[in-house]
Amino acid sequence: MTVTSRTQVGIVGAGPAGLLLSHLLALRGIDSIVVENRSRAYCEARQRAGLLEAGTVELLRTVGLGDRMDAEGLEHGGIYLQFEGERHHLDFRDLTGGRWVTIYAQTEIVKDLIRTRLAAGAMIEFEVSDTEVGELDTERPVLRFTDAGGTRHEVVCDAIAGCDGFHGICRDSMPPGLIRVAEREYPYSWLGILAHVPPSTDELIYCRHQDGFALHTMRTPQVSRLYLQVPADEDIEAWSDDRIWAELRHRLEVPGWELKDGHISEKAISPMRSFVASPMRYRRLFLAGDAAHIVPPTGAKGLNLALADVTVLAKALSSLLKDGRAGLADAYSDASLTRVWRATHFSWWMTSMLHVDPQSDQFGAELQLAQLRYVISSRAAATTLAENYTGYFPLTWEY
Ligand SMILES: Cc1cc2nc3c(=O)[nH]c(=O)nc-3n(C[C@H](O)[C@H](O)[C@H](O)COP(=O)(O)OP(=O)(O)OC[C@H]3O[C@@H](n4cnc5c(N)ncnc54)[C@H](O)[C@@H]3O)c2cc1C
Repeated sequence: MTVTSRTQVGIVGAGPAGLLLSHLLALRGIDSIVVENRSRAYCEARQRAGLLEAGTVELLRTVGLGDRMDAEGLEHGGIYLQFEGERHHLDFRDLTGGRWVTIYAQTEIVKDLIRTRLAAGAMIEFEVSDTEVGELDTERPVLRFTDAGGTRHEVVCDAIAGCDGFHGICRDSMPPGLIRVAEREYPYSWLGILAHVPPSTDELIYCRHQDGFALHTMRTPQVSRLYLQVPADEDIEAWSDDRIWAELRHRLEVPGWELKDGHISEKAISPMRSFVASPMRYRRLFLAGDAAHIVPPTGAKGLNLALADVTVLAKALSSLLKDGRAGLADAYSDASLTRVWRATHFSWWMTSMLHVDPQSDQFGAELQLAQLRYVISSRAAATTLAENYTGYFPLTWEY
């Protein structure tokens, strides 16, 4: 038996994009349902991003999601760039007229959003299966799924948002030939660890070492997050905890500084990819976040882009569904892609400057070092990094 129902916006995916979209639509009086194929516990524990641009922080505050972030988030006014055995500080506040970033883990944003939405009586269906979107050539697209108890549902919508990440079904549900893809795979991966030890640094350290990139970031004053560049096809079994700490110590070493180690609770290898699908819309099916684009994490842009997409999309859907005006919906894809390509360039640039390319040679390595020396010595070059890192495009939300 299939249960049929009706809502205004069907949202596929309870990641940051889908959950924030449902919240923003509710603020504008628009109903939605969110369907998610994982459990609530899984969504709340999935280790991913941790760095928010100033505009993302302001947005979350404006829409009532800032309390815990303001209490627990760590404000950072710069980063360290390390190469040729020396560490240099870039002061974002000085370079950009006062801008900063905030460390607040994606897991915490997802927890805040799920709690807020459920307290408001929102429909979030976890552990669904066989999600499908159909009737896309009409003004009443349909979202189909099987709930955790095995009942099949068919929800008739005014619009559907594909917030289902890179491996979701919405992008592939668009008509064949519509989507153009621009992508780049990088010949290395990141081995990331979550370690229960206070950070050994006050701000993030981005390190280009001749043996590969390393990054020291953090989640809280008690929990550190560290990454190592490893070969693209690396096996995690090759990396014991002792080997990871030894390699981090080797790459991040500078005189007079010590890396504290501690219990590693998670370790995983992530591939590095740039991917942009366009357009981000087919009639009343809209893509947002990782469903439409992926950036390598070096620029810390993926989460920020996902939240920016749905901020623009919520306004567009509100205008379309409440006022019958299609202008913002028609402009959604192009407006988002302008932001996406800026972040794609910045993420590619940071990645290319800081990683050791196994397919490159001495010429490539010298170009990287020349660029790094330029960034730390030229105010113009440092400002380029700082204004992109802290967020180049403003993000606004008005009631
Ligand atoms: C190791 C790592 C580090 C990162 N670091 C940063 C960082 O520092 N800063 C930053 O800004 N970004 C970072 N990112 C990127 C960031 O985590 C993502 O861009 C972000 O999760 C995108 O959010 P989203 O909601 O678009 O997609 P997702 O978080 O992928 O959410 C999509 C959801 O859809 C669900 N789903 C998929 N298919 C279906 C289906 N068929 N039916 C129902 N549900 C479905 C999935 O289970 C998932 O919950 C990092 C990513 C990784 C992997």
